[in-house]
Amino acid sequence: MRRWTALELIEIGESGASLGPAGRALLLLEAGGMPRDAAEALSLGQRDRALFALRARQFGARLEVGQRCPECGADYEFTLTAADLGRDTPGEAAPPATVEGVAVRALTAGDLALGEGQGDAEAARALLRRRVAPGGDAIGDAALDAALAALDPDAELAIAARCPECGQAADIVFDIAAFFWDEIILRVPRLLQQVADLARVNHWSERDILSLPPARRRFYLTAAGA
Ligand SMILES: [Zn+2]
Repeated sequence: MRRWTALELIEIGESGASLGPAGRALLLLEAGGMPRDAAEALSLGQRDRALFALRARQFGARLEVGQRCPECGADYEFTLTAADLGRDTPGEAAPPATVEGVAVRALTAGDLALGEGQGDAEAARALLRRRVAPGGDAIGDAALDAALAALDPDAELAIAARCPECGQAADIVFDIAAFFWDEIILRVPRLLQQVADLARVNHWSERDILSLPPARRRFYLTAAGA
């Protein structure tokens, strides 16, 4: 997988602007070359492992995570990798579990994106139930949630951090899909500004500017005094 071009980063940002978090996660995997149906079939844990791998290929293995201490209010950052979090391998699909005689399978990335398209949380929950446990209407919510958590223990990821100022420990829920998305969205206005600066000085087209290798684009920006 090659790295995305500047134009592709902008297009990904535009395509995902109207999507929810689960839709954006699928969009990223598709933009990384994974067929849509394969991405939709991943459990959430597998999806996140695939996103860690894709993000490492695009932006490097190190993740800079920022946190505000809930105790003293200090902002601090720390660096970690997918390997530090035990998320650097593809992860395996768990076979369905049986709850009250009904087969229950893990939630998938596709389920979540479909649920996100429902009008309200109740409708989304009903849709997800029908998909993961067909015929399982009698299963209580708590039992179903427990079964789903056991089927996909990687679906949630908590990072233990410690404030360097006051020593307060914090458990950070880390969402690689949201983190990766935010990184892309931060790059888009910077790229568009570069287009604006170079187009004003050199009268080049947007496409030509964005297809320049990043180092050459920086050189021309410096030369243009931008
Ligand atoms: Zn603190």
